[in-house]
Amino acid sequence: RKIVIAIDGYSGCGKSSTAKAVAKKLGYTYIDSGAMYRAATLHFINKFTVLTNPKDIQQSLDSLEVEFHKNEDTGEQETYLNGLNVEKKIRSMEVSERVSEVSKIKEVRKELVSQQQKLGKHRGVVMDGRDIGTVVFPEAELKVFMTANLSVRAERRQKELLEKGQMVDLNQIIQNLSERDRIDSTRKESPLKKAPDAFEIDTSLLDFEEQVCEITALANR
Ligand code: C5P
Repeated sequence: RKIVIAIDGYSGCGKSSTAKAVAKKLGYTYIDSGAMYRAATLHFINKFTVLTNPKDIQQSLDSLEVEFHKNEDTGEQETYLNGLNVEKKIRSMEVSERVSEVSKIKEVRKELVSQQQKLGKHRGVVMDGRDIGTVVFPEAELKVFMTANLSVRAERRQKELLEKGQMVDLNQIIQNLSERDRIDSTRKESPLKKAPDAFEIDTSLLDFEEQVCEITALANR
């Protein structure tokens, strides 16, 4: 029987790469909920929407369409905003520095949570984010909460960005990860927190393969 796996945790713990690998091993679909908040942020940046006016926000949300399509050359899933491939743009520091402010907005969460629930309704899904086990799929059969110490996370993120051709100062990354964690865990709307029934995995102590095996074993239990 196919299940829903919810992976939540702090920024830069390796949730997406882990979730992607787990999905591949199990033959499940991987859904990156963070990419949806990032695409919404880019959408607002493009539209110069004033993020304090609920009417403007709602109007912009009505013209927001986020989709995932597989890149046939790399086999990787990529994010599309209103028909355009924005995979690279949504990973930029500009978006990273604004995404948590956008994610605080009630209307934005309501819209994206409902899209995520639709995407996950066929089961056989691994979704990563901040509120998947608490809000999006509180009934998920397997919930994982990932943590890692800040310097480990920042170094991993710097390496990842470098591989994509972006050189970013380590202090700027540390600043961004801790600022996002602060906003994400103190916001009023579905703050980041561990679901009571989630397994906690500290990834500063594990290597990538161990992490993936631990979660797949839990899924097959
Ligand atoms: O997962 P990722 O780091 O790409 O997410 C970017 C940002 O999107 C997070 O810092 C958070 O503000 C927001 N987010 C969220 N809820 C989710 C996924 C992401 O608020 N389920």
